[in-house]
Amino acid sequence: MVLKGKRALVTGSTSGIGLAMARALHAEGAEVILNGFGDDTLIAELQNELGGAVHFGANLLDVSAIEAMMAEAGPLDILINNAGMQHVAPVDEFPTDKWEAIIGLNLTAAFHTTRLAVPAMREKGWGRLINTASAHSLTASPFKSAYNASKHGIVGFTKTVALELAQNGVTANCISPGYVWTELIKGQIPDTMKARGLTREQVINDVLLAKQPTKKFVQPEEVGALALFLCREEAGNVTGSNWSMDGGWTAE
Ligand code: NAD
Repeated sequence: MVLKGKRALVTGSTSGIGLAMARALHAEGAEVILNGFGDDTLIAELQNELGGAVHFGANLLDVSAIEAMMAEAGPLDILINNAGMQHVAPVDEFPTDKWEAIIGLNLTAAFHTTRLAVPAMREKGWGRLINTASAHSLTASPFKSAYNASKHGIVGFTKTVALELAQNGVTANCISPGYVWTELIKGQIPDTMKARGLTREQVINDVLLAKQPTKKFVQPEEVGALALFLCREEAGNVTGSNWSMDGGWTAE
């Protein structure tokens, strides 16, 4: 129970990677606070599974909703900015509202939660800030202009925060998964089929898994285990890093 006594907010934790991270932290004794959308019954089940976890349905595109959530959540030991979204379209056809939403959720929301979480961490002299970036923080794929920009951006933001807090016992790191089989990936398959003129199977094998030398999707639980490591005492000197878990994608 290495995280006993620690309070952790994981954004976008009602599904996919965020849920796996929340489960990994809860298994090591952390008090987990959930955020994200979803069916009421499913969320109630997750809250129950995670030891009566508090859930905030705050829409992270709304700064006042973030501020209300952070005030109500109280001081945190661990903040994981994980909520994210994707849209796939050529740059000259990219819907401007989608650009704003992707930058808003994947990048700007993390700025707001971080600025509100940092004072308590600094005061305590301990904290863990983890941002879910992506292999697309290190490399690009066509038709994902907003996503690639947001994920490259979150790495720069994370490095800056890491430097600012380096002597305060607070680390800040990114995790950069390759393709993980979650709702986010499933949701981009139809648009990718359209943008590239491919079948569903071709998108999975020739676009997604083609990037990963292992030819396997990353499992959400594997990403959860990496987040847990970054929260441990042994990771106190890991800060400002961008850890890949991408089946070798960015090694090429
Ligand atoms: P997902 O769609 O399964 O989960 C997204 C979560 O974010 C959900 O809990 C959802 O309710 C929440 N969310 C969405 N919009 C929100 C908003 N406006 N306010 C609050 N919460 C909101 O997706 P996932 O694949 O688990 O993605 C999680 C993170 O991992 C994202 O940042 C994504 O970019 C990143 N990522 C995913 C992959 C992948 O292959 N799935 C790869 C690399 C990085």
